[in-house]
Amino acid sequence: MSLQATNQLINDKDKSRIHYRTFHNIFLYITERCQLKCNHCYMGERLKRGLSMTYDRIVNIMNHCRKLGAKYITFVGGEPTLHPELPDIVKCARSIGYDKVYIDTNGLNVNKLMYIPPEEISYIRVSLDGAMSATHDKVRGNGTYEKTLNSINQLVKAGYKVGITCTIFNFNIREAPNLLSLADDLGISLVNYHVFSEEGRGIKNSHWSLSPHDWINFYQNLEKIKHNYKTSIWYPPTWASPEKLDTYVDEGYQGCLGCHLDRLSIFPDGICYICSLLFDLPVNYGQITDEGLILNKNKNEFEMFTKAIFRSTEAWLSGCPAEKILEKNGKMKTPNDLISMCRCWKSQI
Ligand code: SF4
Ligand code: SF4
Repeated sequence: MSLQATNQLINDKDKSRIHYRTFHNIFLYITERCQLKCNHCYMGERLKRGLSMTYDRIVNIMNHCRKLGAKYITFVGGEPTLHPELPDIVKCARSIGYDKVYIDTNGLNVNKLMYIPPEEISYIRVSLDGAMSATHDKVRGNGTYEKTLNSINQLVKAGYKVGITCTIFNFNIREAPNLLSLADDLGISLVNYHVFSEEGRGIKNSHWSLSPHDWINFYQNLEKIKHNYKTSIWYPPTWASPEKLDTYVDEGYQGCLGCHLDRLSIFPDGICYICSLLFDLPVNYGQITDEGLILNKNKNEFEMFTKAIFRSTEAWLSGCPAEKILEKNGKMKTPNDLISMCRCWKSQI
């Protein structure tokens, strides 16, 4: 296929809800501190390090990123509610022009969240790893399920838009669809399902992993039962059969999001990554300093993304280049009958 024909094909298929835009999405890790030590936490050793950003540094970075084109910002951690100035940080994000402001939280510090006016927050996404305490508490610690559920109730009643984020392991895969009726009962309009990936503290729990086929069966079942529920469902397909890939391309999938520099995750030490799969590796994008973004001149993410694209005729067929690195470290390989997809891209049903 000629380059012109390939470009035309991309344009024809660009009906994307999830547009690919440069530095559009910022994930700001305002603190690495957390009350919990979840058994799948992607923060790994950073949880022990416990660095936080000062308010002035956060404002500085938010301003830099706005100049780069950022419109959406997610405050994440660690646990972002442990940052003493979270309400002021949210207010500042709005005042400097971020269209969407999200908080990803374990939901245990609901009083801090309540200091933020509901109209300043686009979504509070609360982690709930199952529809019952046995599964959630296995990952996050005894008693956390009840507390988190209580927080969700309070937030919804107070007028916040609340989403649930659920990680799927081999031990909660059967009951996790029950979260959909729970979400409807609680008045929650968004359930985000993710597949467990062996990163950070999750490396030592590789026995909790699903096979790619188990994950595909899980999300295909969601597609079948979705009509029974009001809540929206988002999921990263991660792997797909060649036939199914076409439907994702129709939905706007164009391969590695990293290649489009769509997002930037920034840690308190200033190190930034485009792809969250690489958080355990030194293959980062660069470092944000008071002078701006200093690119990593050593082995870096962007070269890795683009090399994979150059090898492929269509961008969406290039698979996930990070997976190739992770495979070398012993992580799961994509079976021959499936295509690996960008883990950062989500489908909505
Ligand atoms: S997964 Fe979230 S709540 Fe759990 S330890 Fe990590 S940062 Fe804290
Ligand atoms: S998950 Fe894979 S495909 Fe997606 S941004 Fe990262 S390297 Fe690219």
